[in-house]
Amino acid sequence: MKIFSLIIFFGVFLAGLFFAFKKDIWKAEKKEIILNYAEEKKISESVLKKQTKEEANPENLDEINKKEEKTKEEIEINQKESKNSIDDSSQKKEETPDSSQDFEIKNRLVSWGYSISQNRSIDTIILHSSYNAVGDDPHNLDDIIEREYKPAGVSPHYIISREGKVYRLVEDKNIAYHAGVSQVPDGRKNVNDFSLGIEIVNTGKESPNSAQYKSIQNLLDYLKNKYKIKYILGHSDIASGRKTDPWNFDWGKINKK
Ligand SMILES: [Zn+2]
Repeated sequence: MKIFSLIIFFGVFLAGLFFAFKKDIWKAEKKEIILNYAEEKKISESVLKKQTKEEANPENLDEINKKEEKTKEEIEINQKESKNSIDDSSQKKEETPDSSQDFEIKNRLVSWGYSISQNRSIDTIILHSSYNAVGDDPHNLDDIIEREYKPAGVSPHYIISREGKVYRLVEDKNIAYHAGVSQVPDGRKNVNDFSLGIEIVNTGKESPNSAQYKSIQNLLDYLKNKYKIKYILGHSDIASGRKTDPWNFDWGKINKK
């Protein structure tokens, strides 16, 4: 009986030892799991920290800064552009008095009727009259230019249509053939050399109309602003006995000064 109870006691002891050992292993395993978890947590924290650091690393910061700078630049450009548009509008406002609202010179340069000059001085403006004697419409500009001036090899610098439109046929700097044998009051001959010629479209039976008078004045003002003009005369004034144009012209309707 004593041996039996000794075997049970030893068995219980062994079992107890076993469980105690097992518990330790479990504890150790648990600890390791916890540690592992903690490690994982640490890793994840460091990963998290790393990711946060990457988000805030210099390269990314540069990118962010660049983006910010770009935005700044864009804002500045926009501001400049809006400022320029304001400047433009103010310039336009300043220019308005110079170029009168409906005064415009359209280029319709011809290839005949002038000689090229580089540095002539201009101090005289000569007014003429022209009409179309070829076709049905005496005011037809194409006929006047192509069928009258061209065959004759002549041209003014400007022509003012019956509608009051101003066309440039020859550049100011060049010597246009519009005056012929001529002389100004101060005795100078070859008036073409130092003058600008303006043709007004009207026949000998009619006067220039109000649209034409308005354009003549605008063109004269424009030219007086560009050159120091001594004479504004009619063709008849520089070639008397030979020429009678500008026809039916009322000098009182224009301001020479
Ligand atoms: Zn003439």
